[in-house]
This record gives sequence, C-alpha cells and structure tokens, in this order.
Amino acid sequence: MIGRQSFEEMKQQQPVEEDVQTNRYVECITDAIVAQVPPEYGYAPADWELVVFKNKEINAFALPGAKIGVYTGMVQLAQNEHQLASVIGHEVAHVLAQHSNARLSQQQLTQLGLTTTSLILGDSLDSNTQQAAMTALGLGAQYGILLPYSRLHESEADRMGQELMAYAGFDPREASTLWQTMAKQARATPPELLSTHPAPSTRIRQLDTQAASLTSTWQRVLAKGTRPNCDRLRPHQEK
Ligand SMILES: [Zn+2]
Repeated sequence: MIGRQSFEEMKQQQPVEEDVQTNRYVECITDAIVAQVPPEYGYAPADWELVVFKNKEINAFALPGAKIGVYTGMVQLAQNEHQLASVIGHEVAHVLAQHSNARLSQQQLTQLGLTTTSLILGDSLDSNTQQAAMTALGLGAQYGILLPYSRLHESEADRMGQELMAYAGFDPREASTLWQTMAKQARATPPELLSTHPAPSTRIRQLDTQAASLTSTWQRVLAKGTRPNCDRLRPHQEK
C-alpha cells in the first residue's frame, strides 16, 4: 500500500518526537478514538500505527494502511485532549471513508505513471513518483503542490470524526473550538493543516450543529463510565 510506503519514508526523513510524556498523551487519545472504529471498516484497534513528529508546523494526517502522524505543533495548539481528539478523529475518518484513494483520480494516476494495480500491489516506486504520490495523498506543503480535500470530504470527515469523539467520551463541542483557534492562527502563521483541509466559516457552524446533536450520545457514554482522561498525561507547554 502506498500509504505504508510513504509513512516509512517520512519516519526516516523527519525527526520523531522522543519525549515519553508527549507520546503517551497522543497515544492515549489515539487509542480511545481508534477503539471506536466500527468493525465493518476492517481495521482492528491494534492495526493503527501512530507517530508523533517533532515539527512546529500545525499539522496531522492519516494515511491508507492505518497510519497516523501528529506534529508536535498541533499537540501544542490543541488546548486539551478533546481538541486533539477532534483532529485525530477527523483524520481517521478520512481513511475510513477512503478519501485519499478518491483523490488519486484515474487522471492523476496516469500522470504519475501508476495504475490502480500498482498501488494495490505496492510496486516499488522511483523517488519522483513516490513524492508525487505522497503529495496526492495530501502530506503537506513540503512535497510541493497540494491537493486539498473537497468540502464534501471535509464535511464527511468532520461528521464521522465527531461521532468517534463522542463514542470515545471526548466532548464533541471542542471540535469547533479547535478549528476557530486554527482560523485565528491563520492570520499570523497559517497552520499547514489548513492547506489540505480548507476551513470556510460554514464549517464552524456545522461542527456546532453536529455537536449539539451528539450531546445525548456523549452524555450516555460518560454515564457508562467511558472517560479517556488523557489530559493527566498532557505535557507542559513550551513557552
Ligand atoms: Zn480533512
């Protein structure tokens, strides 16, 4: 799978956060989210691999093949476990809904000299093709041109991501808070995440509406005693 191959390459090329506390914090949230992925998607909780990249950029991504990358810049921007869970839930949802695969259109595959078969079989790719494919998967500005997710895919990932949050015991209302913080941040230094995840103002309203409709679900989950309680692991902010 191209997602796996790209992820291995990223791990080799980009510094990985080694701080134990930070890793435990992000793992705690990720574990809680992926535990809620319905089995029909074909992923078991243990299938997901998380890597925290030591990078000040505000970014996170998930790739086909159940790979999740979270940048330390995003860990610091998110003010609590709920907000970071909203990003991870959203990215996991992109994978579950196969949005990356949809972005790699037939035309793009042809331009890359790839076929659907070569993606499925994981044929080894030359470095140019590999990089172009990573770009197509939305891995960020450092790989050149960007293919943002469509608004439809963004809405879908928001909805599924907030559901995963609520079922995991995270407060779905915090998703809107995080995107508002990112929008504010965009006036100074645009978060890298926004280049692949456009955030029009309508999105904040949708997130609020969905959070309201998920409140009873979330309350029921809390009443059953499901509380991730990852904030106890949250590392102190670097000043
Ligand atoms: Zn997105």
